Amino acid sequence: MRVVEKIDEMRRLRHTLSEPVGFVPTMGYLHEGHLSLVRGARDENPSVVVSIFVNPTQFGPHDDLAKYPRDIERDLALLQKEKTDLVFMPSAAEIYPPHFDSWVEVNGVTERLEGASRPGHFKGVTTVVAKLFNIVRPTRAYFGQKDAQQAAVIRKMVSDLNMDLKIVILPTVREPDGLAMSSRNTYLNPEERRTAVVLHRALTLAQQLFSQGERDGEVIRQQMISLIEKEPLANTEYVSVADAETLAELGRINSPALVSLAVKIGKTRLIDNYVLCKDKKPTP
Ligand code: AMP
Repeated sequence: MRVVEKIDEMRRLRHTLSEPVGFVPTMGYLHEGHLSLVRGARDENPSVVVSIFVNPTQFGPHDDLAKYPRDIERDLALLQKEKTDLVFMPSAAEIYPPHFDSWVEVNGVTERLEGASRPGHFKGVTTVVAKLFNIVRPTRAYFGQKDAQQAAVIRKMVSDLNMDLKIVILPTVREPDGLAMSSRNTYLNPEERRTAVVLHRALTLAQQLFSQGERDGEVIRQQMISLIEKEPLANTEYVSVADAETLAELGRINSPALVSLAVKIGKTRLIDNYVLCKDKKPTP
């Protein structure tokens, strides 16, 4: 496994990789969710590139950039075990040199949910992902359903800008109690960790109501909010029942629906989602 920090060197080594090349962009502090993407890439491509880059431009002024968890040694050991060929871990100055002044912005699908809660977030995401695609030039890039809106935004960028690669979205990996794995879960103290499972319980409730025939988006939203608000440490930021592709909020559910939510548990902001499905069991 080669570890590369410079763009030039990444480009040089890219030519030595067997085609097709699978790519997994991450911000590090890897967990089983990230590793499932690496395995997915490994299954479909003879070469796998993983990037580790805590992208400053996708963090707002009040976000957790400075304290975002990092453990490069551990990340590299995990990636080595997964037979990663190349790890690209540039510095912020390598990606954003002085006078950097070009941005990639997707409208529409970025305007709600995470986009509304975190102004500028997706502009940072699409810019860095476009840059990474240009540097790594993957055949396929792998993203998690955990960040459903991000997946939709990246698909839209790739389609609108005719980028020549395939986007693959893989399922959310969860802890045994249902909490979606996230690098941010490490911020939770034991009491908050117990409370955090309420995101999954709210999504399970939505699926249950849907399976019982409920098709009114507002009824599902309200029931989820009441469940979350019973938890003293939990504060709902948004609960959404939206069209799975456009993310437009649904009154009546008659297309595939994405139920998503952002909840603050103490000071930690967590997100999760679930695609409602007629035949799905209430618990995944
Ligand atoms: P991050 O390091 O948080 O930027 O995440 C890097 C990639 O891993 C993104 O495509 C995420 O959607 C994906 N990811 C994060 N958590 C999970 C999870 N629990 N299950 C599956 N994919 C995940």
